[in-house]
Amino acid sequence: MFDKILIANRGEIALRVIRACREMGIASVAVHSTADADAMHVRMADESICIGPPPSPKSYLSIPSIIAACEVTGAQAIHPGYGFLSENAGFVQVIEDHGLTFIGPTAEHIRIMGDKITAKETMLKLGVPCVPGSEGGVPDLATAKKLGAEMGYPVIIKATAGGGGKGMKVANSEAEMEKAFMTARAEGKSNFGNDEVYIEKYLQKPRHIEIQVFGDGKGQAVHLAERDCSLQRRHQKVFEEAPGPSISPEERARIGKICADAMANINYIGAGTIEFLYEDGEFFFIEMNTRLQVEHPVTEAIFGVDLVREQIRVAEGLPMSFTQDDLTINGHAIEVRINAEKLPNFSPCPGRITQYHAPGGLGVRMDSALYDGYSIPPYYDSLIGKLIVHGRDRNEALARLHRALGELIVDGIETTIPLFHNLLQEPDIQAGNYNIHWLEKWLARTYE
Ligand code: ADP
Repeated sequence: MFDKILIANRGEIALRVIRACREMGIASVAVHSTADADAMHVRMADESICIGPPPSPKSYLSIPSIIAACEVTGAQAIHPGYGFLSENAGFVQVIEDHGLTFIGPTAEHIRIMGDKITAKETMLKLGVPCVPGSEGGVPDLATAKKLGAEMGYPVIIKATAGGGGKGMKVANSEAEMEKAFMTARAEGKSNFGNDEVYIEKYLQKPRHIEIQVFGDGKGQAVHLAERDCSLQRRHQKVFEEAPGPSISPEERARIGKICADAMANINYIGAGTIEFLYEDGEFFFIEMNTRLQVEHPVTEAIFGVDLVREQIRVAEGLPMSFTQDDLTINGHAIEVRINAEKLPNFSPCPGRITQYHAPGGLGVRMDSALYDGYSIPPYYDSLIGKLIVHGRDRNEALARLHRALGELIVDGIETTIPLFHNLLQEPDIQAGNYNIHWLEKWLARTYE
């Protein structure tokens, strides 16, 4: 059993992990850059240690500094949160070489799923349905054009190493292929150091449905239903809900079993998310994230489980504390992402918080590292909080979200809170009637 865990992250997710550690009687170590000396995760952890200057490559992404922090503090395990080093197979290798434990999947699984081409090949072999597209990488423009003609436009060209919405370009016709192909390649190269790309059919009106999976690394795996994350801007999620308003219990059981079986088959350990596009009753795999997701709280809310606690348990070699039969859905949950961004352009808006008040009451959870007087540094992600509501059904969750948003005060900077006030007025949102293109169209109508 671990006595002490180091959290290689910052912000709300670092706090989230500290909370699980405290409830389990495990001491926590926060790491921070010089810009984060006053951050809430530093205050809340049992110990903290400065690991470098503000830019992430010199602090939160510095593997030697994080390993040194473990050695200095005597932490036995590292929780990576999401982002930063959470899907870095090399990091996992170094952690293991130092006799420490990574709270997450194996380096091999991270490597397989981190490369989207290999991930698709692996999933196809495991019986998971995928988006139709090229078999493996597409070496040059001529091949890309040939495939486009065969598959029919529109198609999407994706960097195999891509993530965070980067390295993806749509071509609506052969005339658009050259630019899309070259741009996806260039973005793959400059953002991820890999210019290999592949091609997929571009679906016209899908929903983004992702299945939460969890494995013990010893051949047992379960699914915790789906989250609908279709409301996206520039391929980035802004509003997530569970269960998905368009998914029937039969469909859930079917795709859930396919995912759980696939994970059991590869002895997957810990939390993972298998992402699909869902159109006309069919699921198409797009990628797998081998970590805890930002939106994991909606799943926690409807199942009443603590996913971080489970991650720590299986990393300790313990079994999961639930079986598939124990997992039943209770009600409906919605999360909205509060970003320090100025509408309508979503430009980053760091600065000092003059007043902060978190909403409360039945079924309300606010995961945030804000406090009165806190200065949001300009160096990191603009996510400053997640408001999660849970109700007996979707309508109650929506009403609760409306009420909780009204209580939330974040003064001193611009945030995305007004966006959600507006969004909740929309009949389509009230009805759960939206796909991955809905939000961009609505934003164009509403703000431009
Ligand atoms: P990233 O790794 O950058 O998050 P994903 O492969 O997960 O990229 O895709 C992100 C989003 O891009 C999806 O949720 C969806 O909105 C859109 N997308 C990806 N692939 C397709 C496709 N084949 N057809 C239509 N939209 C797609």
